Amino acid sequence: MNISDGELMEGMLAEQGYEIVRRPEDADVVLVNTCAIREHAETRVLGRVSQLNGLKRERPDLVIGVTGCMAQRLGTTLLEQAPYVDLVMGPDGYRSLPESLERIAARRSTRARTQLAVLELHPTENYQGLEQLRSEGPVAWVPVQRGCDHRCTFCIVPYVRGPEKNRDAREVVNEVEGLAARGVSEVTLLGQTVNSYRSGEVDFPSLLRCVARVAGVRRVRFTSPHPNDVTPELVEVMAEEPAVCEHLHLPAQSGSDRTLRRMLRRYTVDELRAKVELVREAIPDIAISTDIIVAFPGETDAEFRDTLELMRTVRFDEAYTYKYSLREGTPAARLPAEDFVGADEAQARLEELIEVARGIQAEINAAEVGRVEEVLIENPGRQGGQVLGRTRRNKVVAFDGDTARVGEYTRVELRHTTGATFVGVEVSATAGALA
Ligand code: SAH
Repeated sequence: MNISDGELMEGMLAEQGYEIVRRPEDADVVLVNTCAIREHAETRVLGRVSQLNGLKRERPDLVIGVTGCMAQRLGTTLLEQAPYVDLVMGPDGYRSLPESLERIAARRSTRARTQLAVLELHPTENYQGLEQLRSEGPVAWVPVQRGCDHRCTFCIVPYVRGPEKNRDAREVVNEVEGLAARGVSEVTLLGQTVNSYRSGEVDFPSLLRCVARVAGVRRVRFTSPHPNDVTPELVEVMAEEPAVCEHLHLPAQSGSDRTLRRMLRRYTVDELRAKVELVREAIPDIAISTDIIVAFPGETDAEFRDTLELMRTVRFDEAYTYKYSLREGTPAARLPAEDFVGADEAQARLEELIEVARGIQAEINAAEVGRVEEVLIENPGRQGGQVLGRTRRNKVVAFDGDTARVGEYTRVELRHTTGATFVGVEVSATAGALA
């Protein structure tokens, strides 16, 4: 979502005549777009911004802005903490970005205080009409929804991005048609709980079907869905539409009913398992990934073991694992002090979870060695003469190939796995057709 928002800000500024440069040393304005989901992300931003202050000492005209969720969360406190920051702007402020930069410039010419905060949340701002400046390439992010109506007790998103706001379906489809006309063949629909999308008569399964049928679109993905909105209708569209990739991100968060209840996730472990079964029955070859939080306040060792049990039985293809991070203002932050799991215990749980998750991932991937898969070449590889691509099931494959072929589809035999990713060999067109 943040990559996508960065492109959106670039698009708005480019339209106003700004030129986008890649090095802060070359810029008159530097915007640091931020995430507030965990403390770690925020700490890194503070470090980055203070580095930029070094540049500003050499060039006092430099405008430094902090945008996005952390800006929204810290607001004017950030301006006090980092007096060299000129602009803090939350996610709903992007529309006024060019005007805000002009205001800063105008204030500077009068030598007035230049710091500006744009922090209002607009319940109706759905970012309609704002065009992203996308980098060249075969893949594109397409936000269809902003904000969130859930109240998962650990999560800061509803407080920094406001309530759920959905884009008009027609506009989404038009945008995807435009992208396809420019050579984009893979799109990822984005939203905080993307599958609760609804705009007028159009719900998420119908939107997904429309996007999947846009001529030229060969792959469609979406993230992040909420398990409760993984409905039979959605699974039917995923199974029926050839363009929808055989991959589902299904954030479980925990394998303990008590923890899930206290997280206000609104499903039980059995209900989650039923979703996995529903999806696997309709799309047997599907890859499923997940997000897990360990050491949520009050999580006992036995409850953590329940999460390990969920991992061992569901066998996710990939797991993004996190230690609970206290976010001021969220309901979980107000739980009794004695509930908070100690740092060492949290770290130990995280490490154990990672070991189990990686072990399963390595086993699943080892069993896939020998398969021939369709791969979209997305990037040059780390080594010269190599390219990186992804399979429909979202697995990364490195293989020998010319970087000029980014954007092409080819067939690759998976020869070896590092555990998380694959090394492959391209098969010739005829061999590919036989496989
Ligand atoms: N809206 C998305 C979540 C985006 S954040 C969804 O519901 O799927 C991505 C992941 O970060 C979450 O799924 C969760 O596992 C993790 N996360 C969110 N808040 C967190 C917190 N306070 N501490 C640790 N991990 C957190």
